[in-house]
Amino acid sequence: MEKVISGIRPTGNLHLGNYFGAVKSFVTMQNEYDCMFFIADWHSLTTHPTPENIRQSVRTILSEYLACGIDPEKAPIYVQSDVKPVLELYLYLNMNAYLGELERVTSFKEKARTQPDNVNAGLLTYPTLMAADVLAHKADKVPVGKDQEQNMEMMRLFARRFNRIYNVDFFKEPQSYHFYKDAVKVPGLDGSGKMGKSNGNCIYLCDDEATIRKKVMKAVTDSGPTQLNQEKPEVIQNLFTLLELVSTKDTYDYFNDQYNQMTVRYGDLKKQLAADINAFCAPIRERILEYQSNEDYILRVAKQGAERASESAEKTLREVRQIIGFRA
Ligand code: ADP
Repeated sequence: MEKVISGIRPTGNLHLGNYFGAVKSFVTMQNEYDCMFFIADWHSLTTHPTPENIRQSVRTILSEYLACGIDPEKAPIYVQSDVKPVLELYLYLNMNAYLGELERVTSFKEKARTQPDNVNAGLLTYPTLMAADVLAHKADKVPVGKDQEQNMEMMRLFARRFNRIYNVDFFKEPQSYHFYKDAVKVPGLDGSGKMGKSNGNCIYLCDDEATIRKKVMKAVTDSGPTQLNQEKPEVIQNLFTLLELVSTKDTYDYFNDQYNQMTVRYGDLKKQLAADINAFCAPIRERILEYQSNEDYILRVAKQGAERASESAEKTLREVRQIIGFRA
């Protein structure tokens, strides 16, 4: 079975966009691939050198991913900083990564612009750490968004270069897995663009019923259709896209017909949408709360994940040391 590795940024709670855009695909992928997921807490130091409550956010993320259906027996979840052999590979890869090529990486240049007072070496070597995370397990595929494409190219470059320098055929070149091509883009409730943390327009999987209702009722609308069967403007299409995700086909058709007949009442539509989002989130929310109150279980999942990942990485590192000429 092909190996898939994916990193998770330890930032905040999961929202509906994350769910339909990525997490749902991960849940499917765990049945088709040999998957491992890790929480990239080392990487987060490149932008947040003094993370607040990193342990707490790791527990939150684990609870939320498990609640969404990640099965740690099929797909171990581990915390990046628990798997030390990756650090050693990071060091070896850094020895053969060149300043010029690292400085040319777009995300580095962007970060250097947005945090000019903290252009640290970790930011510069973000791609080598990401390569180490994946190459340490000799993974075949990495689910990535478009913004990670360049990092994937660097990873393949480092793999090829290692093979060339040490005259071996050891690392294979991991491929990007564009799951987002099939994934739904979840719109925000503010009328434009997608749901995203930085846009402040999210419905979180852990939001309670009242919060969901409040957020949905505040969603932007227009003054209503003025022609039969008219095309929907973006603000309205967004609500219908959400209905399509969480409501039954009958409900969707009902409001769609009303829109086409110009009899739609947005207040009713939003009430229904809020109720359906709540019905969708409620079981996930309950599981999140359950996992969060079972700290022992969460810690055990992380520990077992770390053991499996460390074993796999250590095996690779023993060979890498031998190849370079160190004691294995
Ligand atoms: P955020 O910062 O809003 O949580 P990220 O940019 O960290 O989102 O994305 C995490 C994952 O969730 C990515 O794989 C991304 O493709 C997916 N994602 C985020 N928002 C959406 C959305 N509105 N629709 C679909 N997928 C999304």
